[in-house]
Amino acid sequence: MKRLLVTGGAGFIGANFVYYWMRNYPEDHMVVLDALTYAGNEPSLDALKDKPNFKFVEGSIADQALVEKLLVEEDLDTIVNFAAESHVDRSISGPDIFLETNVIGTHNILKAARRVWIENEDTAKPNHRFHHVSTDEVYGELDDDSPGFTEEHVYAPNSPYSASKASSDHIVRAYHHTFGLNVSTTNCSNNYGPYQYPEKLIPLFLTNILRNKNLPVYGTGKNVRDWLYVDDHAKGIDLILASDKVGDIYNIGGNNEWNNMDIIHLLCESMDKRFAENPELAKQYPEAAPANGKKSADLITFVEDRAGHDWRYAIDASKFKKELGYEPDETFETGIQKTIDWYLDNEEWWRPLLVN
Ligand code: NAD
Repeated sequence: MKRLLVTGGAGFIGANFVYYWMRNYPEDHMVVLDALTYAGNEPSLDALKDKPNFKFVEGSIADQALVEKLLVEEDLDTIVNFAAESHVDRSISGPDIFLETNVIGTHNILKAARRVWIENEDTAKPNHRFHHVSTDEVYGELDDDSPGFTEEHVYAPNSPYSASKASSDHIVRAYHHTFGLNVSTTNCSNNYGPYQYPEKLIPLFLTNILRNKNLPVYGTGKNVRDWLYVDDHAKGIDLILASDKVGDIYNIGGNNEWNNMDIIHLLCESMDKRFAENPELAKQYPEAAPANGKKSADLITFVEDRAGHDWRYAIDASKFKKELGYEPDETFETGIQKTIDWYLDNEEWWRPLLVN
């Protein structure tokens, strides 16, 4: 049985991880620490709030004393660190908070973990674990012909977001080598699924189709990303936490490389098909493009490319498969249909988050 601190558990991947974990390990004790920034949404965790072995704490990873207090008072042995500023566009318009949260904030939790789990004889836990959740963006960009990033690929982050995540990865690694903290790190490709804040590509485009708003495509729309259904990310972290792979790094990917235009057309065609097959949807979403005789793809507009936009990311996840037998359950085609179902069924979750 584990006793976990999940930082950033009211965000997209954190919330999905929390549900994944409580479904699979219903007896485990879990504390979520989240600062509830614009990207954090406490109602995402509503279904768990009455469970006696689940606790939500509003607070920041910048508050080392709070993290130490939670580790001691709740007798926690595992930290999974999702808390971060995560949106590349925001890191271009305002990088400071990315360094504060992703670098200094991560360092604060490491300091707290070291003090409680290693330095203090009364609270020391030899079998503690600190799992750090990171991104493939730390490796920089690939051209069309290069093989995917392996764990040996040199770090070459290009945006303030990826540079802040790269810094946090290094400081996590250093706490293992220098202080003996039991750490593991995963560098994962683009996630998609339920509870994703509607500023990111897939939920933004789905909710825009439902509101008959333009679908703004950066540059040519040909940038390529590898996509992983969010539950498959949670499953990967679970495998690593269950293993003795301490001090190790794993790349997690979905073997699902897609360029943005192909994703957008898949979303548009899937939405048009849903509306054609189910007349109730037009009643639920009267503003939607397909409820008004339009094709969703008519909403596509091309906008100026993002500054420093990386061309392609791709993951070589063979180490994870070989050492821990990891395979994602979803293909992009199956995961995207689950995601569309979720957004169609959960308007009350996403509608209050829209800014325009
Ligand atoms: P998100 O922006 O949806 O959620 C981040 C959460 O962290 C929010 O709930 C926010 O309130 C919380 N938070 C921010 N600052 C905090 C602070 N100081 N203290 C406590 N909580 C704070 O992000 P996400 O997409 O769920 O990403 C989670 C993690 O996974 C991040 O570390 C990100 O770098 C990494 N990651 C994301 C993706 C992706 O595709 N979304 C891919 C790979 C890795």
